Amino acid sequence: MFLSPPRRGAAPRSWLGLTLALAVVLAGCGPRAERGAADSSAADAGAPLVLTSFTVLADMASEVACGQLRVESITRPGAEIHGYDPTPSDLRRAQDAQLVLVNGLNLELWMERYLASARGAERVVVSEGVDVIPISGDAGAGQPNPHAWMSPRQARTYVANIRDAFIGFDPANADTYRRCADAYSAELEALDGELREQLAVLPPDRRLLVSCEGALSYLAADYGLEEAYLWPVNAETEVTPQRMERVIRTVRERQVPAVFCESTVDDRPQRRVAEETGARFGGVFYVDSLSEPDGVAPTYLAMLRHNARILVQGLRADGQR
Ligand SMILES: [Zn+2]
Repeated sequence: MFLSPPRRGAAPRSWLGLTLALAVVLAGCGPRAERGAADSSAADAGAPLVLTSFTVLADMASEVACGQLRVESITRPGAEIHGYDPTPSDLRRAQDAQLVLVNGLNLELWMERYLASARGAERVVVSEGVDVIPISGDAGAGQPNPHAWMSPRQARTYVANIRDAFIGFDPANADTYRRCADAYSAELEALDGELREQLAVLPPDRRLLVSCEGALSYLAADYGLEEAYLWPVNAETEVTPQRMERVIRTVRERQVPAVFCESTVDDRPQRRVAEETGARFGGVFYVDSLSEPDGVAPTYLAMLRHNARILVQGLRADGQR
């Protein structure tokens, strides 16, 4: 999408628009694009504290909370979230939380220890009810792949669970949570259509997604892509010679034009795959974490759009091999 150049004489109207937009943001109901991940500025400091295990959930929960609750992520942008080691200040913050939202599906291996510090906070598993895809063909085979949020369709189940958790916790604001969850869910549905359309341009022989972690299975399943990866889950990131060889062989055989890695792990093994095979290193996917607010993936919606954009750029038919 391109912005049209500013028109002569348009300044007063733009200023008015900007002022109005700012006023709306300050009122706590701003357009989504204006609000960063884990942004709790809309809620006053006295509002109940909801903690989430990672930034993606904090963004979703903020959308549903609509300024009625303080939503914060325990882990910061860029943190490794599978085997995270909570800091003393994380543990102190847990004592103030009234609700802790977790992904479940074995994602947060550190959560039991963490929750021992969260006196009285209720834990809610927001992936409850998603169509689980099991890990296949490597360590952890048969266990659930935890990254269900990578499908905007499955993410609507997350939103419904978050809504129900908020209504249960704070029934007085039930109408607000319902209204905001509905609006956000409609955005996710629209995003699903948008991604489907974008990824449809990839020809059949280019529909192979090569990542570091096998974290995009839900996205691949939704949009008809195949996957290859260096390790199945970040809890165990060792790149054995066999794993490396398998990916290199696949990339060569299938003449994959671009390979990718995720923002929370070391991308050097994948860059080596690129060097060995002549594929391009196509960029960084955001999966287990949003970017910083001024980065390319400050919200869940922006994150999925960014991933689809670099995927299409890397794999499209007119791309170089
Ligand atoms: Zn992961």
